[in-house]
Amino acid sequence: MKECLICSAPLKLIKFKCADGHVCKGCYEKVSLNFTQTIKNKTQAELLEIIAAPEEEAPAETFEITRKINQFIFFDDKHQKICLPNHKKYTKEALKPEVYPFSVILSCQLVEEQTEQVVKKKKQQLGSIKVVLTLQEETREIWLIPNFINRDSMAYKTMRSLANNIVAEVNQLKEGVAC
Ligand SMILES: [Zn+2]
Repeated sequence: MKECLICSAPLKLIKFKCADGHVCKGCYEKVSLNFTQTIKNKTQAELLEIIAAPEEEAPAETFEITRKINQFIFFDDKHQKICLPNHKKYTKEALKPEVYPFSVILSCQLVEEQTEQVVKKKKQQLGSIKVVLTLQEETREIWLIPNFINRDSMAYKTMRSLANNIVAEVNQLKEGVAC
């Protein structure tokens, strides 16, 4: 199968021709400067140069929240980006907000850890919850329940359903990205 000249993704039906071959939709969006330029006569080297050029605006300035799930994750559907606000409550370390394009998201999973504890001679099922985002070059964690709490509690159930929402919404993004 043919590969995108820029990101090496296998090319499906949607591909765009340049002087040296084809690029995928995600890369085409970048090298065509959001579909404003044609690339037909451009070489691979010229396209790579366009990709390498610094963005005109800082990511934080171009981020518009179009959807969000509490303070866990923000979505910018217009610019195809997510933002992890990294609210101190939901990270295990002090982090600044981070912005990532939809295209670098590889997967998103709910991870629950479980343990048992005897409290007043009764066994209790405890659990912790995090959402793990696997990106092209790193992994990010959103901790919804960082410290073990009773799995039957309302807080636990609420957080688990929020975590499921995050996973569903993030995984849905990937289907919209062709690259
Ligand atoms: Zn590509």
